[in-house]
Amino acid sequence: MNRLFLLGAMVMIASTAAGCGRIEPAQADLVLLGAKIFTADAEAPWADALAVKDGLILEVGTERAVSRFIGEGTEVVHRPGGLAVPGFNDAHVHMVDGGRSLVGIQLRDAEDEEKFRDRIAAYVRDLPPGTWVQHGNWDHEAWPSKRHPSKELIDPVTPDHPVFVTRLDGHISLANSLALELAGITADTPDPVGGDIVRDPETGEATGIMIDAAQTLVTRIIPQPDDVEIRRVLEAAIAHAAELGVTSVQDNTDSQLLRVYEQIRSEGKLTVRVNAWHPIGEMEQLVEEGIRAWSGDMWIRRGTVKMFADGSMGAGSAWFFEPYTDDPSTSGLAMDSEEDMRRMIREADAAGFNIACHAIGDRANSVILDALAEAFRINGARTIPRRHRIEHAQAVREEDMDRFRELGIIASVQPSHAIDDMRWAEKRIGRERCDYSYRIGSFINSGIHTAFGTDWFVEPLDPRLGLYAAVTREFPGGGPEGGWFPEEKITLEQALTAYTLGSAYAEGLEGVKGKIAEGYLADITVFEKDLFKLEPREWLTIPIALTMVDGKVVYAAQEE
Ligand SMILES: [Zn+2]
Repeated sequence: MNRLFLLGAMVMIASTAAGCGRIEPAQADLVLLGAKIFTADAEAPWADALAVKDGLILEVGTERAVSRFIGEGTEVVHRPGGLAVPGFNDAHVHMVDGGRSLVGIQLRDAEDEEKFRDRIAAYVRDLPPGTWVQHGNWDHEAWPSKRHPSKELIDPVTPDHPVFVTRLDGHISLANSLALELAGITADTPDPVGGDIVRDPETGEATGIMIDAAQTLVTRIIPQPDDVEIRRVLEAAIAHAAELGVTSVQDNTDSQLLRVYEQIRSEGKLTVRVNAWHPIGEMEQLVEEGIRAWSGDMWIRRGTVKMFADGSMGAGSAWFFEPYTDDPSTSGLAMDSEEDMRRMIREADAAGFNIACHAIGDRANSVILDALAEAFRINGARTIPRRHRIEHAQAVREEDMDRFRELGIIASVQPSHAIDDMRWAEKRIGRERCDYSYRIGSFINSGIHTAFGTDWFVEPLDPRLGLYAAVTREFPGGGPEGGWFPEEKITLEQALTAYTLGSAYAEGLEGVKGKIAEGYLADITVFEKDLFKLEPREWLTIPIALTMVDGKVVYAAQEE
């Protein structure tokens, strides 16, 4: 018997006991009145009030039905004109990198090379010499030149600080000369497998730009942050999630980060539920620990392993069948040999893990679907239900769409990637391939399980942007008229459902979270206004009134 159903049954029993076991109706801990409620429950999508007790939803329905649970100790929250939805579950985040984007150097909105250099210069001014400058999320595609920066740009302002700042997609970094020197990288250093040390075509010297696997030549020599530093950054990220109505995250973690999460949780300070993925390289260690899919509890889940099939479209390293339109010399990069990827998937599936595989290019998606199909054939049925997923699933050919459905693979997509990448995607891969990329509407309308996320730090963690992107496929400021590949647009109901119930399904928890329904976990987000009554453009600035996790208010806007 799988644990999901056991757990679901336990939750239902708990709520029945609370609701009907006594003559007097149970007293709710909290009742929400006045807001419209979108439940994401297909059988009863709308309600007017809800009651919460012991971290679970006790009742959802009319104000009358809910009011009978109001007792002396009940907190009654009135949010007239608001909209309550199941708490957002971001199916793909990098909490530490995201936290760093809140507390570290900010390069994302530097408008050109000069501003980029000036920000770095200002940042190092008070920094002890020798301290590394990292991350930053720069984006050369937003600059008039659209050219990669080079070490020559930043060397004059960083003579005493090694710099290794990363593009917002995480696939390209810029090192200054000091960083290259410390890492021992010279003109003669060969490109590693799966990576590029970009070189000046005339001198052959490294320009400082390191792509994909080449980045590790530098990162491996950067001192690792200690738990205290990780905690400082993670706490900023957790608070940010609460402010944005994000109640669950599925996070690219590692052993150190997991330790810090556990520490915060043991102090009762964790306000977001975490599905903590491990790099697939840690699998052996996980097996030894007895971890596999469905391990953990409702606060920290484990048993998903993360792997990569390719790089990113922005970096030109996503793996396609055909060469890039703007660079016919390459079709992108596979992260490993096909054989190794197939073996990893087969082993992870056999060991009872769920697999989250990053695949962006059409070939990467196709090869991973092949590998999953092969693993299922060889491993046969599994007692632990499979919730394998492809992360990003950006370019997927028609024939592979059917395989997503047949194999039950979850498409874990980030709507905000579409409206960000559309600035340059047609230039890079051509219009024909864009036609079968970022196909969110196709996934959802053809019955493929779809989870929504942001890939924060790559995109903002803000769910309002994801909803807007999925529904309009327009830039936040508007355009292109009618949306980019408008046939892929979806409704707000569909977008909210993918962002809540869809993401819960991806972690196997659709029986306990992702809906506002009796017996479900009381993770709820309330907007100050009803998004359904507003233009999508207005959603972007509608304040989050309240975020509730486990029946407790973890964020509340100041009331006017
Ligand atoms: Zn990611």
